[in-house]
Amino acid sequence: MEEKGIPKEFHSFETNAPFEQCIECEKYLLDDDTEYIIEKAVKNYEGYSAKDIVFDYAICMDCAETMRKEISKESWESMMRYFQENIDIQSRLEMHNQSPEEGLKSCMIKKTQLNDCGEYQIYAHCKGNKINMENPPYMISGEVMEELLPLLSDKTIDEMNGFLDKHFSPDPSLMEPTPPRLILV
Ligand SMILES: [Zn+2]
Repeated sequence: MEEKGIPKEFHSFETNAPFEQCIECEKYLLDDDTEYIIEKAVKNYEGYSAKDIVFDYAICMDCAETMRKEISKESWESMMRYFQENIDIQSRLEMHNQSPEEGLKSCMIKKTQLNDCGEYQIYAHCKGNKINMENPPYMISGEVMEELLPLLSDKTIDEMNGFLDKHFSPDPSLMEPTPPRLILV
């Protein structure tokens, strides 16, 4: 499978360059064989001419695995079932042969165009400084988050919020009630 460089959409908001470290254990990520996940939540603003990065991070596979174990089995199975029932397998398979940016143009589940999403999250599975196209990058609209959250247990939502609070303490002047956000490592 052809290897692709990491598109700027997945660069760190802070450094404007590829992520170099795991957010949890600080492992260096850009060695050739190191696999990791990048997740980014973005808010489109009025008229959607401006964007706000809600959070972004990279996490190594070991830490992602640890997080997965903290999610309750029931919540995990509900999420997997939701994806199985709602993903268009054919278009997901076609993404393997497209550019990594292609999957970011519309919601993988709802097909909503990115510019029509008030909020969205994007994911990439990377290996060193390349995108792993065996698991192509994708985008999930805010609408999907809203459908997924009720499927999760309170404990799982607490775990996810705990992770975000630990790494992204919000600027107090910007504090507003925000809905819980999904971590889909
Ligand atoms: Zn790690």
